[in-house]
Amino acid sequence: MLLLLLLLLFSASSFAQKTSVEETSVSFLELRNCKSSFAETKLTEESEATVNKFAHEFAHVESIYESKLKLQYTQESLAGKHYSYIQTIGNTIVYNSEVKVNTNGKAVVLSVFDNSFSPKTFTDKNSSLAQAEIFVKEKFQSFYSLKNEIIWFPLSETELAKAYRFELQNAASENLEIITNGREILYKRDLNTYAAQADSTAKGFVFMPDPLTSSGNVYGGSFIDNYDNDSPWLTNERKEVSLSVEFSNNVFKLKNSFVQISDFDLPNNIPATAVLPMFNFSRSNLNFEQVNAFYHITEIGKHIKSMGFNCANTLVDVDANALNGQDNSFFATNYNPQRLYFGIGGVDDAEDADVIVHEYSHFLSYNASPQSNTGNERLALDEAFGDYNAASYSRAINDFNWGWVYNWDGHNAFWTGRVVNSNKTYPTNLVNNIYKDGEIWSSMLMQLWSDIGKNTMDKLIVQAHYGYAQNIKFTDAANLLLSADQQLFNGLHYCILTQRMFERGVLPSGKTLCTNAIANIQKELPVVLLQTPDGCIVTSPETLWNTTVEIIDAAGKKIHTQPFEGRTIIDGKHFTPGIYFVKVSNSNSSKILKWFKQ
Ligand SMILES: [Zn+2]
Repeated sequence: MLLLLLLLLFSASSFAQKTSVEETSVSFLELRNCKSSFAETKLTEESEATVNKFAHEFAHVESIYESKLKLQYTQESLAGKHYSYIQTIGNTIVYNSEVKVNTNGKAVVLSVFDNSFSPKTFTDKNSSLAQAEIFVKEKFQSFYSLKNEIIWFPLSETELAKAYRFELQNAASENLEIITNGREILYKRDLNTYAAQADSTAKGFVFMPDPLTSSGNVYGGSFIDNYDNDSPWLTNERKEVSLSVEFSNNVFKLKNSFVQISDFDLPNNIPATAVLPMFNFSRSNLNFEQVNAFYHITEIGKHIKSMGFNCANTLVDVDANALNGQDNSFFATNYNPQRLYFGIGGVDDAEDADVIVHEYSHFLSYNASPQSNTGNERLALDEAFGDYNAASYSRAINDFNWGWVYNWDGHNAFWTGRVVNSNKTYPTNLVNNIYKDGEIWSSMLMQLWSDIGKNTMDKLIVQAHYGYAQNIKFTDAANLLLSADQQLFNGLHYCILTQRMFERGVLPSGKTLCTNAIANIQKELPVVLLQTPDGCIVTSPETLWNTTVEIIDAAGKKIHTQPFEGRTIIDGKHFTPGIYFVKVSNSNSSKILKWFKQ
Protein backbone atom coordinates (compact mmCIF):
# COMPACT_ATOMS: atom_id res chain seq x y z
CA MET A 1 0.00 0.00 0.00
CA LEU A 2 2.87 2.35 0.82
CA LEU A 3 4.25 1.67 -2.64
CA LEU A 4 0.95 2.58 -4.25
CA LEU A 5 0.83 5.80 -2.25
CA LEU A 6 4.31 6.72 -3.40
CA LEU A 7 3.33 5.96 -6.98
CA LEU A 8 0.34 8.22 -6.74
CA LEU A 9 2.28 11.00 -5.07
CA PHE A 10 4.87 11.11 -7.78
CA SER A 11 4.49 14.27 -9.76
CA ALA A 12 3.30 13.76 -13.30
CA SER A 13 5.20 16.71 -14.67
CA SER A 14 8.42 14.95 -15.56
CA PHE A 15 9.28 16.37 -18.95
CA ALA A 16 8.68 20.10 -18.95
CA GLN A 17 11.49 22.43 -19.84
CA LYS A 18 11.01 23.99 -16.44
CA THR A 19 8.93 23.11 -13.45
CA SER A 20 8.06 24.50 -10.08
CA VAL A 21 7.20 21.05 -8.76
CA GLU A 22 9.75 19.52 -6.40
CA GLU A 23 10.01 15.91 -7.44
CA THR A 24 10.86 14.34 -4.14
CA SER A 25 8.33 11.49 -4.05
CA VAL A 26 9.53 8.75 -6.34
CA SER A 27 8.64 5.12 -6.86
CA PHE A 28 11.07 2.24 -7.06
CA LEU A 29 10.71 2.35 -10.85
CA GLU A 30 12.34 5.80 -11.00
CA LEU A 31 15.22 4.75 -8.77
CA ARG A 32 15.72 1.22 -10.04
CA ASN A 33 19.26 0.14 -10.84
CA CYS A 34 20.00 -1.00 -14.31
CA LYS A 35 22.58 -3.80 -14.49
CA SER A 36 25.37 -2.55 -16.73
CA SER A 37 28.54 -4.03 -18.19
CA PHE A 38 31.33 -2.42 -20.17
CA ALA A 39 33.33 -5.62 -20.65
CA GLU A 40 34.10 -6.05 -24.36
CA THR A 41 32.83 -9.34 -25.78
CA LYS A 42 33.77 -10.76 -29.18
CA LEU A 43 30.92 -12.38 -31.13
CA THR A 44 31.46 -14.92 -33.94
CA GLU A 45 29.93 -12.43 -36.37
CA GLU A 46 27.66 -9.37 -36.17
CA SER A 47 24.06 -10.33 -36.92
CA GLU A 48 20.67 -10.08 -35.21
CA ALA A 49 20.97 -13.79 -34.38
CA THR A 50 24.33 -13.53 -32.59
CA VAL A 51 23.39 -10.35 -30.71
CA ASN A 52 20.05 -11.92 -29.80
CA LYS A 53 21.81 -14.96 -28.36
CA PHE A 54 24.25 -12.75 -26.45
CA ALA A 55 21.41 -10.63 -24.98
CA HIS A 56 19.48 -13.71 -23.82
CA GLU A 57 22.55 -15.17 -22.13
CA PHE A 58 23.44 -11.86 -20.48
CA ALA A 59 19.96 -11.25 -19.07
CA HIS A 60 19.31 -14.90 -18.06
CA VAL A 61 15.65 -14.46 -19.00
CA GLU A 62 15.29 -18.01 -20.29
CA SER A 63 15.61 -19.34 -16.75
CA ILE A 64 12.17 -17.76 -16.18
CA TYR A 65 9.10 -19.64 -17.38
CA GLU A 66 8.03 -18.58 -20.90
CA SER A 67 10.31 -15.49 -20.82
CA LYS A 68 12.12 -14.10 -23.85
CA LEU A 69 13.60 -10.89 -25.18
CA LYS A 70 11.86 -9.25 -28.13
CA LEU A 71 13.85 -6.94 -30.43
CA GLN A 72 12.24 -3.44 -30.39
CA TYR A 73 14.57 -1.66 -32.80
CA THR A 74 18.11 -1.46 -34.12
CA GLN A 75 19.85 1.84 -34.71
CA GLU A 76 23.14 2.86 -36.31
CA SER A 77 25.51 5.58 -35.15
CA LEU A 78 28.96 6.77 -36.17
CA ALA A 79 30.61 4.31 -33.80
CA GLY A 80 28.50 1.20 -34.21
CA LYS A 81 25.12 -0.50 -33.85
CA HIS A 82 22.56 -0.45 -31.07
CA TYR A 83 20.01 -3.19 -30.30
CA SER A 84 17.08 -2.58 -27.96
CA TYR A 85 15.09 -5.51 -26.52
CA ILE A 86 12.12 -5.78 -24.21
CA GLN A 87 11.35 -8.74 -21.95
CA THR A 88 8.20 -10.77 -22.56
CA ILE A 89 6.59 -13.46 -20.42
CA GLY A 90 4.06 -15.64 -22.22
CA ASN A 91 4.09 -13.10 -25.09
CA THR A 92 3.07 -10.19 -22.80
CA ILE A 93 5.68 -7.46 -22.45
CA VAL A 94 7.14 -6.56 -19.08
CA TYR A 95 6.92 -2.83 -18.45
CA ASN A 96 10.23 -0.93 -18.24
CA SER A 97 12.42 -3.97 -18.93
CA GLU A 98 14.67 -2.76 -21.74
CA VAL A 99 17.87 -4.67 -22.48
CA LYS A 100 20.20 -2.62 -24.66
CA VAL A 101 23.27 -3.99 -26.44
CA ASN A 102 25.78 -1.59 -28.02
CA THR A 103 28.32 -2.98 -30.48
CA ASN A 104 31.04 -1.45 -32.65
CA GLY A 105 29.24 -2.80 -35.74
CA LYS A 106 32.11 -5.29 -36.22
CA ALA A 107 31.06 -8.11 -33.90
CA VAL A 108 32.35 -6.63 -30.63
CA VAL A 109 29.87 -5.85 -27.82
CA LEU A 110 30.98 -2.63 -26.13
CA SER A 111 28.32 -2.25 -23.45
CA VAL A 112 25.11 -3.83 -22.17
CA PHE A 113 22.31 -2.43 -20.00
CA ASP A 114 19.89 -4.89 -18.47
CA ASN A 115 16.51 -3.89 -16.95
CA SER A 116 14.91 -7.33 -17.14
CA PHE A 117 13.08 -8.81 -14.15
CA SER A 118 13.36 -12.18 -12.38
CA PRO A 119 9.87 -12.39 -10.87
CA LYS A 120 8.84 -14.90 -8.21
CA THR A 121 5.19 -13.85 -7.83
CA PHE A 122 2.61 -13.21 -10.55
CA THR A 123 -0.71 -11.51 -9.84
CA ASP A 124 -3.55 -11.63 -12.34
CA LYS A 125 -5.51 -8.57 -13.37
CA ASN A 126 -8.94 -9.91 -12.31
CA SER A 127 -10.75 -7.47 -14.55
CA SER A 128 -11.35 -7.15 -18.27
CA LEU A 129 -10.08 -4.53 -20.67
CA ALA A 130 -13.65 -3.20 -20.99
CA GLN A 131 -13.85 -2.72 -17.19
CA ALA A 132 -10.43 -1.04 -17.15
CA GLU A 133 -11.55 1.34 -19.90
CA ILE A 134 -14.63 2.36 -17.92
CA PHE A 135 -12.47 2.92 -14.82
CA VAL A 136 -9.97 5.11 -16.72
CA LYS A 137 -12.72 7.11 -18.49
CA GLU A 138 -14.31 7.93 -15.16
CA LYS A 139 -11.02 9.01 -13.55
CA PHE A 140 -9.82 11.10 -16.51
CA GLN A 141 -13.01 12.55 -17.93
CA SER A 142 -11.52 15.23 -20.16
CA PHE A 143 -9.13 12.74 -21.80
CA TYR A 144 -9.55 10.30 -24.67
CA SER A 145 -7.61 7.10 -25.17
CA LEU A 146 -4.94 6.89 -27.88
CA LYS A 147 -3.71 3.41 -27.20
CA ASN A 148 -4.01 0.51 -24.76
CA GLU A 149 -2.24 -2.78 -24.18
CA ILE A 150 -1.93 -5.58 -21.64
CA ILE A 151 1.38 -5.62 -19.78
CA TRP A 152 3.16 -7.17 -16.84
CA PHE A 153 3.65 -4.30 -14.38
CA PRO A 154 6.42 -4.65 -11.76
CA LEU A 155 5.13 -4.01 -8.22
CA SER A 156 8.62 -4.80 -6.92
CA GLU A 157 11.76 -6.51 -8.23
CA THR A 158 10.16 -9.93 -7.75
CA GLU A 159 6.43 -9.33 -8.18
CA LEU A 160 4.66 -8.74 -11.50
CA ALA A 161 0.98 -7.94 -11.91
CA LYS A 162 -1.07 -8.21 -15.11
CA ALA A 163 -2.27 -4.70 -15.88
CA TYR A 164 -3.51 -2.41 -18.64
CA ARG A 165 -1.43 0.43 -19.98
CA PHE A 166 -3.28 3.44 -21.50
CA GLU A 167 -2.01 6.47 -23.35
CA LEU A 168 -4.42 9.36 -22.90
CA GLN A 169 -4.67 12.80 -24.35
CA ASN A 170 -6.88 15.84 -23.89
CA ALA A 171 -7.67 18.96 -25.89
CA ALA A 172 -4.80 20.82 -24.21
CA SER A 173 -2.35 18.22 -25.63
CA GLU A 174 -1.61 16.81 -22.20
CA ASN A 175 -0.41 13.29 -22.76
CA LEU A 176 -0.57 10.78 -19.91
CA GLU A 177 0.48 7.21 -19.39
CA ILE A 178 -1.81 5.36 -16.99
CA ILE A 179 -1.31 1.84 -15.71
CA THR A 180 -4.25 0.24 -13.96
CA ASN A 181 -5.56 -3.16 -12.88
CA GLY A 182 -9.11 -1.88 -13.47
CA ARG A 183 -9.68 -1.03 -9.79
CA GLU A 184 -6.85 1.34 -8.93
CA ILE A 185 -4.15 3.33 -10.67
CA LEU A 186 -0.80 1.60 -10.32
CA TYR A 187 1.27 4.22 -12.09
CA LYS A 188 0.86 7.55 -13.83
CA ARG A 189 3.26 9.77 -15.70
CA ASP A 190 3.38 12.64 -18.17
CA LEU A 191 4.64 11.55 -21.58
CA ASN A 192 5.44 15.00 -22.96
CA THR A 193 9.12 15.85 -22.90
CA TYR A 194 9.08 19.49 -21.69
CA ALA A 195 11.71 21.61 -21.35
CA ALA A 196 9.70 18.79 -47.12
CA GLN A 197 12.02 19.92 -49.03
CA ALA A 198 14.25 22.95 -48.71
CA ASP A 199 14.32 24.49 -52.06
CA SER A 200 14.77 28.17 -51.51
CA THR A 201 16.44 30.81 -49.41
CA ALA A 202 14.82 33.75 -47.72
CA LYS A 203 16.02 36.38 -45.29
CA GLY A 204 14.60 36.80 -41.83
CA PHE A 205 15.22 38.49 -38.50
CA VAL A 206 15.98 36.52 -35.33
CA PHE A 207 17.60 36.89 -31.90
CA MET A 208 21.22 35.62 -31.82
CA PRO A 209 20.90 33.74 -29.52
CA ASP A 210 18.78 36.08 -27.32
CA PRO A 211 18.61 39.87 -26.84
CA LEU A 212 20.46 39.85 -23.49
CA THR A 213 23.43 37.79 -24.65
CA SER A 214 23.85 39.79 -27.86
CA SER A 215 23.63 43.14 -26.03
CA GLY A 216 25.67 42.04 -22.99
CA ASN A 217 22.91 42.68 -20.46
CA VAL A 218 21.04 40.85 -17.73
CA TYR A 219 17.25 40.98 -17.39
CA GLY A 220 15.96 44.35 -16.17
CA GLY A 221 15.85 48.05 -17.09
CA SER A 222 15.17 48.49 -20.82
CA PHE A 223 15.52 44.76 -21.39
CA ILE A 224 12.27 43.36 -20.01
CA ASP A 225 9.41 41.39 -21.53
CA ASN A 226 6.79 44.11 -20.94
CA TYR A 227 3.91 41.89 -22.08
CA ASP A 228 5.60 41.02 -25.39
CA ASN A 229 5.62 44.63 -26.57
CA ASP A 230 8.21 46.02 -28.96
CA SER A 231 10.91 48.38 -27.74
CA PRO A 232 13.70 50.07 -29.70
CA TRP A 233 16.31 48.16 -27.65
CA LEU A 234 14.81 44.75 -28.31
CA THR A 235 14.06 45.45 -31.98
CA ASN A 236 17.68 46.53 -32.38
CA GLU A 237 18.92 43.15 -31.11
CA ARG A 238 17.38 41.27 -34.06
CA LYS A 239 19.96 40.02 -36.58
CA GLU A 240 19.38 39.32 -40.26
CA VAL A 241 19.96 35.67 -41.25
CA SER A 242 19.44 33.34 -44.21
CA LEU A 243 16.58 30.85 -43.94
CA SER A 244 16.28 27.56 -45.91
CA VAL A 245 12.58 27.65 -46.77
CA GLU A 246 10.10 25.99 -49.10
CA PHE A 247 8.76 27.83 -52.13
CA SER A 248 5.48 26.45 -53.45
CA ASN A 249 2.29 27.90 -54.95
CA ASN A 250 4.12 31.22 -55.26
CA VAL A 251 4.71 31.65 -51.52
CA PHE A 252 7.66 31.08 -49.19
CA LYS A 253 6.87 28.79 -46.24
CA LEU A 254 8.75 28.04 -43.02
CA LYS A 255 9.43 24.43 -43.92
CA ASN A 256 12.54 22.39 -44.79
CA SER A 257 13.79 18.84 -44.19
CA PHE A 258 14.41 19.46 -40.45
CA VAL A 259 11.43 21.49 -39.31
CA GLN A 260 8.04 22.82 -40.29
CA ILE A 261 6.11 25.56 -38.53
CA SER A 262 2.49 24.59 -37.88
CA ASP A 263 -0.44 25.60 -35.75
CA PHE A 264 -1.70 22.65 -33.71
CA ASP A 265 -2.28 24.34 -30.36
CA LEU A 266 -3.90 27.53 -29.03
CA PRO A 267 -3.67 30.41 -29.66
CA ASN A 268 -4.75 29.95 -33.29
CA ASN A 269 -2.56 31.79 -35.73
CA ILE A 270 -1.78 30.84 -39.29
CA PRO A 271 1.91 29.99 -39.87
CA ALA A 272 3.77 32.89 -41.49
CA THR A 273 4.23 32.87 -45.26
CA ALA A 274 5.79 35.49 -47.52
CA VAL A 275 5.32 36.51 -51.14
CA LEU A 276 8.79 38.06 -51.24
CA PRO A 277 11.69 36.08 -49.68
CA MET A 278 11.73 38.12 -46.47
CA PHE A 279 10.42 37.23 -43.00
CA ASN A 280 10.82 40.52 -41.17
CA PHE A 281 8.86 40.66 -37.92
CA SER A 282 9.44 42.28 -34.53
CA ARG A 283 8.87 40.38 -31.30
CA SER A 284 5.33 41.65 -30.65
CA ASN A 285 4.26 39.78 -33.79
CA LEU A 286 3.55 36.06 -33.23
CA ASN A 287 5.35 35.36 -36.51
CA PHE A 288 8.65 36.46 -34.95
CA GLU A 289 8.72 33.41 -32.64
CA GLN A 290 8.00 31.18 -35.65
CA VAL A 291 10.95 32.54 -37.60
CA ASN A 292 13.19 32.34 -34.53
CA ALA A 293 12.29 28.68 -33.76
CA PHE A 294 12.56 27.76 -37.43
CA TYR A 295 16.01 29.28 -37.86
CA HIS A 296 17.63 27.87 -34.70
CA ILE A 297 16.24 24.34 -35.17
CA THR A 298 17.45 24.30 -38.78
CA GLU A 299 20.93 25.39 -37.69
CA ILE A 300 21.33 22.78 -34.95
CA GLY A 301 19.80 20.10 -37.20
CA LYS A 302 22.35 20.89 -39.92
CA HIS A 303 25.16 20.73 -37.36
CA ILE A 304 24.10 17.26 -36.08
CA LYS A 305 23.74 15.98 -39.63
CA SER A 306 27.11 17.40 -40.67
CA MET A 307 28.77 15.39 -37.88
CA GLY A 308 27.38 12.23 -39.54
CA PHE A 309 24.54 11.33 -37.15
CA ASN A 310 21.05 10.30 -38.35
CA CYS A 311 18.99 11.50 -35.36
CA ALA A 312 18.15 14.85 -37.05
CA ASN A 313 17.02 13.18 -40.27
CA THR A 314 13.29 13.25 -39.54
CA LEU A 315 11.04 16.27 -39.66
CA VAL A 316 9.82 17.91 -36.46
CA ASP A 317 6.54 19.82 -36.33
CA VAL A 318 6.71 23.07 -34.34
CA ASP A 319 4.02 25.31 -32.88
CA ALA A 320 6.00 28.38 -31.80
CA ASN A 321 2.95 30.07 -30.22
CA ALA A 322 1.42 27.31 -28.12
CA LEU A 323 0.15 26.40 -24.64
CA ASN A 324 -2.24 29.35 -24.51
CA GLY A 325 -0.61 31.60 -21.93
CA GLN A 326 1.49 28.95 -20.17
CA ASP A 327 5.16 29.63 -19.59
CA ASN A 328 6.57 26.25 -20.60
CA SER A 329 7.59 24.15 -23.60
CA PHE A 330 7.62 20.44 -24.35
CA PHE A 331 8.31 17.63 -26.80
CA ALA A 332 5.61 15.08 -27.70
CA THR A 333 6.49 11.75 -29.36
CA ASN A 334 2.98 10.46 -30.04
CA TYR A 335 2.47 12.22 -33.37
CA ASN A 336 3.91 11.80 -36.83
CA PRO A 337 5.84 14.05 -37.30
CA GLN A 338 6.78 14.44 -33.64
CA ARG A 339 5.96 17.83 -32.11
CA LEU A 340 7.54 20.66 -30.20
CA TYR A 341 5.31 23.10 -28.31
CA PHE A 342 6.63 26.51 -27.23
CA GLY A 343 4.54 28.44 -24.71
CA ILE A 344 3.97 32.18 -24.79
CA GLY A 345 3.58 32.91 -21.06
CA GLY A 346 6.24 35.08 -19.37
CA VAL A 347 8.93 35.77 -21.98
CA ASP A 348 7.76 33.87 -25.09
CA ASP A 349 9.80 30.65 -24.99
CA ALA A 350 10.62 30.68 -28.71
CA GLU A 351 12.31 34.09 -28.34
CA ASP A 352 15.25 32.36 -26.61
CA ALA A 353 17.45 30.01 -28.66
CA ASP A 354 18.34 28.16 -25.43
CA VAL A 355 14.75 26.98 -25.00
CA ILE A 356 14.48 26.07 -28.69
CA VAL A 357 17.70 24.03 -28.70
CA HIS A 358 16.87 22.37 -25.36
CA GLU A 359 13.50 21.11 -26.62
CA TYR A 360 14.93 20.01 -29.97
CA SER A 361 17.57 18.05 -28.02
CA HIS A 362 14.82 15.87 -26.49
CA PHE A 363 13.79 15.09 -30.08
CA LEU A 364 17.41 14.21 -31.02
CA SER A 365 17.87 12.04 -27.94
CA TYR A 366 14.57 10.24 -28.56
CA ASN A 367 15.48 9.50 -32.15
CA ALA A 368 18.96 8.27 -31.18
CA SER A 369 17.62 5.83 -28.54
CA PRO A 370 13.81 5.66 -28.61
CA GLN A 371 11.77 4.89 -25.47
CA SER A 372 14.79 4.84 -23.18
CA ASN A 373 13.94 7.97 -21.19
CA THR A 374 12.80 6.48 -17.87
CA GLY A 375 14.36 6.47 -14.41
CA ASN A 376 15.31 9.60 -12.51
CA GLU A 377 18.97 9.78 -13.44
CA ARG A 378 18.24 8.88 -17.07
CA LEU A 379 15.67 11.71 -17.17
CA ALA A 380 18.20 14.10 -15.62
CA LEU A 381 20.72 13.09 -18.31
CA ASP A 382 18.20 14.09 -20.99
CA GLU A 383 17.59 17.48 -19.37
CA ALA A 384 21.35 17.96 -19.09
CA PHE A 385 21.80 17.07 -22.78
CA GLY A 386 19.32 19.83 -23.67
CA ASP A 387 21.04 22.37 -21.42
CA TYR A 388 24.48 21.38 -22.73
CA ASN A 389 23.40 21.68 -26.37
CA ALA A 390 21.76 25.03 -25.66
CA ALA A 391 24.92 26.35 -23.96
CA SER A 392 27.21 24.90 -26.63
CA TYR A 393 25.14 26.45 -29.40
CA SER A 394 24.78 29.88 -27.77
CA ARG A 395 28.38 30.09 -26.59
CA ALA A 396 29.61 29.54 -30.14
CA ILE A 397 27.51 32.54 -31.24
CA ASN A 398 28.44 34.81 -28.32
CA ASP A 399 30.19 33.82 -25.10
CA PHE A 400 28.76 36.59 -22.92
CA ASN A 401 27.54 35.04 -19.67
CA TRP A 402 27.47 31.57 -21.21
CA GLY A 403 27.36 29.83 -17.84
CA TRP A 404 23.64 30.62 -17.73
CA VAL A 405 21.08 28.83 -19.86
CA TYR A 406 17.79 30.55 -20.75
CA ASN A 407 19.35 34.02 -20.33
CA TRP A 408 16.23 35.74 -21.69
CA ASP A 409 13.44 33.28 -20.86
CA GLY A 410 14.73 32.72 -17.31
CA HIS A 411 16.93 34.36 -14.66
CA ASN A 412 14.09 36.81 -14.09
CA ALA A 413 10.87 37.18 -12.12
CA PHE A 414 9.08 34.59 -14.31
CA TRP A 415 11.56 31.76 -13.81
CA THR A 416 15.00 31.29 -12.23
CA GLY A 417 16.56 29.51 -15.23
CA ARG A 418 19.48 27.09 -14.90
CA VAL A 419 23.28 27.17 -15.05
CA VAL A 420 25.97 25.03 -16.71
CA ASN A 421 28.83 26.27 -14.54
CA SER A 422 27.72 24.75 -11.25
CA ASN A 423 30.25 23.09 -8.96
CA LYS A 424 27.79 20.49 -7.71
CA THR A 425 29.04 16.89 -7.50
CA TYR A 426 27.62 13.38 -7.71
CA PRO A 427 26.06 11.82 -5.72
CA THR A 428 26.37 14.41 -2.90
CA ASN A 429 24.22 17.06 -4.58
CA LEU A 430 21.48 14.79 -5.98
CA VAL A 431 18.05 15.99 -4.83
CA ASN A 432 15.77 13.80 -6.99
CA ASN A 433 14.83 16.72 -9.19
CA ILE A 434 15.73 15.91 -12.79
CA TYR A 435 16.45 19.56 -13.67
CA LYS A 436 18.62 20.37 -10.66
CA ASP A 437 20.41 17.01 -10.83
CA GLY A 438 21.00 17.54 -14.54
CA GLU A 439 23.15 20.60 -13.72
CA ILE A 440 25.86 18.27 -12.36
CA TRP A 441 26.17 16.53 -15.73
CA SER A 442 25.67 19.57 -18.01
CA SER A 443 28.25 21.58 -16.03
CA MET A 444 30.80 18.78 -16.43
CA LEU A 445 30.09 18.64 -20.18
CA MET A 446 30.61 22.41 -20.53
CA GLN A 447 33.90 22.17 -18.61
CA LEU A 448 34.98 19.57 -21.15
CA TRP A 449 33.77 21.89 -23.93
CA SER A 450 36.37 24.39 -22.67
CA ASP A 451 39.00 21.64 -22.44
CA ILE A 452 38.62 19.86 -25.79
CA GLY A 453 36.46 22.19 -27.89
CA LYS A 454 32.89 22.38 -29.12
CA ASN A 455 33.06 20.07 -32.10
CA THR A 456 34.73 17.19 -30.26
CA MET A 457 32.48 17.47 -27.22
CA ASP A 458 29.29 17.74 -29.31
CA LYS A 459 30.28 14.63 -31.24
CA LEU A 460 31.08 12.61 -28.10
CA ILE A 461 27.84 13.42 -26.30
CA VAL A 462 25.60 12.75 -29.32
CA GLN A 463 27.39 9.44 -29.92
CA ALA A 464 26.92 8.51 -26.25
CA HIS A 465 23.16 9.09 -26.49
CA TYR A 466 22.82 6.30 -29.07
CA GLY A 467 23.92 3.87 -26.37
CA TYR A 468 21.52 5.12 -23.68
CA ALA A 469 19.01 2.71 -22.13
CA GLN A 470 16.22 2.85 -19.56
CA ASN A 471 17.33 3.57 -15.98
CA ILE A 472 21.02 4.18 -16.68
CA LYS A 473 22.92 6.17 -14.04
CA PHE A 474 25.40 9.04 -14.39
CA THR A 475 28.21 6.49 -13.97
CA ASP A 476 26.91 4.50 -16.96
CA ALA A 477 26.70 7.71 -18.98
CA ALA A 478 30.31 8.48 -18.03
CA ASN A 479 31.42 5.07 -19.28
CA LEU A 480 29.43 5.55 -22.52
CA LEU A 481 31.25 8.86 -23.06
CA LEU A 482 34.60 7.10 -22.62
CA SER A 483 33.44 4.38 -25.01
CA ALA A 484 32.43 7.02 -27.59
CA ASP A 485 35.89 8.56 -27.32
CA GLN A 486 37.51 5.14 -27.72
CA GLN A 487 35.47 4.38 -30.86
CA LEU A 488 35.58 7.79 -32.55
CA PHE A 489 38.98 9.17 -31.43
CA ASN A 490 40.93 6.09 -30.31
CA GLY A 491 40.75 7.25 -26.70
CA LEU A 492 42.57 10.52 -27.43
CA HIS A 493 40.71 12.41 -24.67
CA TYR A 494 40.76 9.66 -22.04
CA CYS A 495 42.85 11.57 -19.48
CA ILE A 496 40.92 14.81 -19.47
CA LEU A 497 37.56 12.99 -19.59
CA THR A 498 38.40 10.81 -16.59
CA GLN A 499 39.84 13.76 -14.65
CA ARG A 500 36.60 15.75 -15.06
CA MET A 501 34.56 12.64 -14.21
CA PHE A 502 36.55 12.06 -11.00
CA GLU A 503 36.13 15.72 -9.98
CA ARG A 504 32.36 15.44 -10.47
CA GLY A 505 32.17 12.06 -8.76
CA VAL A 506 30.43 10.44 -11.74
CA LEU A 507 33.25 7.93 -12.09
CA PRO A 508 34.71 6.28 -8.99
CA SER A 509 38.31 7.50 -8.72
CA GLY A 510 41.25 5.17 -8.96
CA LYS A 511 40.55 3.92 -12.46
CA THR A 512 42.85 6.35 -14.23
CA LEU A 513 46.03 5.62 -16.16
CA CYS A 514 46.87 9.31 -16.18
CA THR A 515 48.49 11.59 -13.64
CA ASN A 516 48.09 15.35 -13.62
CA ALA A 517 46.06 15.59 -16.80
CA ILE A 518 45.83 19.33 -16.27
CA ALA A 519 48.59 21.41 -14.76
CA ASN A 520 47.43 23.64 -11.93
CA ILE A 521 47.63 26.87 -13.83
CA GLN A 522 47.85 29.96 -11.61
CA LYS A 523 45.82 32.73 -13.13
CA GLU A 524 43.43 35.51 -12.33
CA LEU A 525 40.02 34.08 -11.55
CA PRO A 526 37.73 34.32 -14.60
CA VAL A 527 34.82 36.05 -12.87
CA VAL A 528 32.59 38.93 -13.92
CA LEU A 529 30.14 41.15 -12.07
CA LEU A 530 26.76 41.99 -13.54
CA GLN A 531 24.85 44.97 -12.14
CA THR A 532 21.16 44.28 -11.60
CA PRO A 533 18.39 46.60 -10.44
CA ASP A 534 18.30 44.69 -7.11
CA GLY A 535 22.02 44.27 -6.45
CA CYS A 536 24.60 42.35 -8.43
CA ILE A 537 25.46 38.89 -9.64
CA VAL A 538 28.93 37.35 -9.66
CA THR A 539 29.32 34.68 -12.31
CA SER A 540 32.06 32.78 -14.12
CA PRO A 541 32.22 30.93 -17.41
CA GLU A 542 34.30 28.26 -15.66
CA THR A 543 33.57 25.88 -12.83
CA LEU A 544 35.35 27.18 -9.76
CA TRP A 545 35.83 24.86 -6.80
CA ASN A 546 36.02 25.96 -3.12
CA THR A 547 35.68 29.64 -3.95
CA THR A 548 34.42 32.46 -1.72
CA VAL A 549 32.82 35.84 -2.43
CA GLU A 550 33.55 38.67 0.02
CA ILE A 551 32.09 42.19 0.04
CA ILE A 552 34.44 44.91 1.24
CA ASP A 553 33.25 48.47 1.84
CA ALA A 554 35.02 51.67 0.73
CA ALA A 555 36.83 51.82 4.09
CA GLY A 556 38.36 48.38 3.43
CA LYS A 557 36.23 46.55 5.97
CA LYS A 558 34.94 43.08 5.12
CA ILE A 559 31.18 43.19 5.67
CA HIS A 560 29.82 40.06 4.02
CA THR A 561 30.98 36.57 2.94
CA GLN A 562 29.21 33.84 0.96
CA PRO A 563 30.30 30.78 -1.04
CA PHE A 564 30.62 31.13 -4.82
CA GLU A 565 28.06 28.88 -6.52
CA GLY A 566 28.43 29.44 -10.26
CA ARG A 567 25.82 32.18 -10.28
CA THR A 568 26.06 34.03 -6.98
CA ILE A 569 23.39 36.63 -6.32
CA ILE A 570 24.22 39.51 -3.96
CA ASP A 571 21.02 40.97 -2.61
CA GLY A 572 21.42 44.76 -2.63
CA LYS A 573 18.84 45.46 0.04
CA HIS A 574 21.37 44.68 2.81
CA PHE A 575 23.74 47.40 1.57
CA THR A 576 23.57 51.20 1.59
CA PRO A 577 24.23 52.96 -1.76
CA GLY A 578 27.93 53.49 -2.57
CA ILE A 579 31.05 51.79 -3.90
CA TYR A 580 31.94 48.27 -2.76
CA PHE A 581 34.70 45.83 -3.66
CA VAL A 582 33.73 42.25 -4.38
CA LYS A 583 36.62 39.87 -3.78
CA VAL A 584 36.33 36.39 -5.27
CA SER A 585 39.05 33.99 -4.16
CA ASN A 586 40.16 30.40 -3.67
CA SER A 587 43.46 28.85 -2.59
CA ASN A 588 45.01 29.38 -6.04
CA SER A 589 43.96 32.84 -7.11
CA SER A 590 41.60 35.75 -6.68
CA LYS A 591 40.02 38.73 -8.38
CA ILE A 592 38.58 42.00 -7.08
CA LEU A 593 35.58 43.59 -8.82
CA LYS A 594 33.92 46.96 -8.28
CA TRP A 595 30.23 47.25 -7.48
CA PHE A 596 28.31 50.54 -7.52
CA LYS A 597 25.29 49.99 -5.32
CA GLN A 598 22.54 52.37 -6.43
ZN1 LIG B 1 13.64 19.27 -20.93
